[in-house]
Amino acid sequence: MIFGVLAIQGAIEEHEEALKKAGYEAKKVRNKEDLKDIDALIIPGGESTTIGKLMKKYGLFESIKNSSLPILGTCAGMVLLSKDSGYKQDLLGLMDITVKRNAYGRQRESFEKEIYFKDIGKIYGVFIRAPVVDKILSDDVEVIAKDDDKIVGVMQDRYMALSFHPELSEDGYKVYKYFVKHCVK
Ligand code: GLN
Repeated sequence: MIFGVLAIQGAIEEHEEALKKAGYEAKKVRNKEDLKDIDALIIPGGESTTIGKLMKKYGLFESIKNSSLPILGTCAGMVLLSKDSGYKQDLLGLMDITVKRNAYGRQRESFEKEIYFKDIGKIYGVFIRAPVVDKILSDDVEVIAKDDDKIVGVMQDRYMALSFHPELSEDGYKVYKYFVKHCVK
């Protein structure tokens, strides 16, 4: 099982290290040729407007959008998988969700919190200027993680989007395993 980590901007090495610890192979994806050697792709946290723009510049935007790869989007990656963020930005729009960027506001730019994850139970979520799911646009989308009443994890077919950073917590590997079990066929 080889994970590609979109290596444009953001938490790239953090994912690579955490994936290796979880027993997976990890490779950086910088151009569309790199997409051929992987079984799944991670779109990491960072700044979603920048990542979207650079994906276009490097010819990755359409290749990712049209690929049959399972994709895990974390934080900015969640924004990029959504159909609308309320901002004017390039979005892959692969999941039937809209998001609210920086949903926790300025007071709580980054924090750690116990959240509830389906089938796993309580896990630690690291949130950094995190988005949350605002609207779910189809019945194909399943809610898999919640922070009180906020939706912080969703799954649809081979796609999974998380508000938080599993690569930054001790128990985040459980989330990778969940993704492999449910999204990688
Ligand atoms: N606030 C960023 C965005 O909306 C996401 C932050 C993150 O990925 N840690 O693009």
